[in-house]
Amino acid sequence: MNRQTLQKRERDFLYLRKKKQPMNRTIFSALTCLLLLFSAGNSFADGKKVSKLSPQDSLMKAKIGEFVMVRLTTDVAQLSENDRRMIPLLIEVAKIMDDLYWKQVITERKKFLDSIRDPFIRRFADINYGPWERLNNNEPFVKGFGPKPAGVNFYPKDMTKAEFDKWMNKDKTSPYTVIKRKTDKTLSAVWYHDLYKTELTRAATMLNQAANYALDSGLRKYLNLRATALLTDKYYDSDMAWMDMKNNTLDFVVGPIENYEDALFGCKTAYEAALLVKDKEWSKKLAKYAQFLPELQQQLPVSDPYKSEKPGTDSDLNAYDIIYVSGHSNAGSKTIAINLPNDEKVQMAKGSRRLQLKNAMRAKFDNILVPISKILIDSSQKQYIKFDAFFSNVMFHEVAHGLGIKNTINGKGTVRDALKEKYAAFEEAKADILGLYMVVKLIEKGEIKEATREDCYVTFMAGLIRSVRFGAASAHGKANMMCFNYFAEKGAFERSATGVYKVNFDKIGKAMNDWCAQVLTYEGNGDYQGASAYLETNGVIHTALQKDLDHLKNAKIPVDIVYSQGMSFLGLRK
Ligand code: ZN
Repeated sequence: MNRQTLQKRERDFLYLRKKKQPMNRTIFSALTCLLLLFSAGNSFADGKKVSKLSPQDSLMKAKIGEFVMVRLTTDVAQLSENDRRMIPLLIEVAKIMDDLYWKQVITERKKFLDSIRDPFIRRFADINYGPWERLNNNEPFVKGFGPKPAGVNFYPKDMTKAEFDKWMNKDKTSPYTVIKRKTDKTLSAVWYHDLYKTELTRAATMLNQAANYALDSGLRKYLNLRATALLTDKYYDSDMAWMDMKNNTLDFVVGPIENYEDALFGCKTAYEAALLVKDKEWSKKLAKYAQFLPELQQQLPVSDPYKSEKPGTDSDLNAYDIIYVSGHSNAGSKTIAINLPNDEKVQMAKGSRRLQLKNAMRAKFDNILVPISKILIDSSQKQYIKFDAFFSNVMFHEVAHGLGIKNTINGKGTVRDALKEKYAAFEEAKADILGLYMVVKLIEKGEIKEATREDCYVTFMAGLIRSVRFGAASAHGKANMMCFNYFAEKGAFERSATGVYKVNFDKIGKAMNDWCAQVLTYEGNGDYQGASAYLETNGVIHTALQKDLDHLKNAKIPVDIVYSQGMSFLGLRK
């Protein structure tokens, strides 16, 4: 038996062990029969396979295997009796959001999954919330389904863009209406709260019940207002109340929120929910670090005009464990951070909140970053790949968006306006490198004790490679490549002939400082031409790295994670 087969068997064994525990029926009923199939199809007990999978099933099985199952849990000891009473109610609400999301994308979950006989395809469709592979450009993988309709069920399939544009209706672009075709063939805009009245009434009732248990008055007020919002599609008051919550342990993001599922017009929002438990210890630390922001800004390794702005110190940044997730935020790539609300009126009045999902990060670190490092990082430096370093780098990336420079120094207006469509890549590059810079400074000051400079540098390098694994098309990907190529040029790391990377601790500190200065200079000068040319040459994956990335693909490093979640996984009884 080769190593890979062994690893796969170990993973199957983990699945099986989980199966013996009480399972969340809604999510994992399909998995249960799949597990039996896995074990039957792969029984090596007598040294040979009992049955052979069809090529189609083998492909699907391999695709399912690209996702690692992760159990969502937290330290339940810190939860009060009342929190524990709220959790099952909020999970039920989250399940309703899940049902509604299925309806928005295709149809009722059960109806859709029951129509697929092949258990492998069914399981993969469950992961993808439909017949289209989300992490592979929405390629259809279920027989009978063509390309994913850009407007899914938000619009009639036969509606053209021209017809929509011509149609005079004040509610047609609302984030909370579905466009339907009436029997007389004309269009109508139906409010979510009318279309999904039965489900939303149940959800609102349970939100209000949960609110009755909330000891924190901010949380209670928010849950009550959110219940009302679900039934009226007016979310402003509840968003404002969400911004005011400060001392709650439980948090619950719920409702129709993001508009990515509407690829036709980007108007309509998809239902989702995320149940969170605040990591108070880390949140306290973050509040402490925020005090150093003005000082760190002054110390940035760039000349004075580029660091004269004063960063805010009131950034609302907290760490959480995610304990249940549903609907849109459970489909496709699993998020490690939430930045809300989207309503610009609320943002103007109260700013926004950034929620870092520590256990989701941990899962990606363990299951993706560590295996990548095993292959690509020099054996003498694997000891420096540490979760605390990864977590700090990611956290301070967020903080660093608030540092540096927002306005050009030469009257070209804001950096955003001056750099136009190149802005996002440079802003991400800035957050990456200033984030690392801050972590290193705070370690040197003795404020961060959980990680060393070496940990942060090596983990940062591995993180750069991780995030360009699926290409460098996004602003994040381009930012990562600019940094990677800059570091390569300055000798911050070396790549061996066999594609193993080793950080050069003598040089990486200077390379980091110089890259900070370079990015801030492009931003401060609002140098569109210079920035564009730099990005064109350096925001790309060169041949040697591409070879190493291909190597990772062959090594079957997981693509992403899927969650086992619910009361039993939390160790709570219903
Ligand atoms: Zn960012």
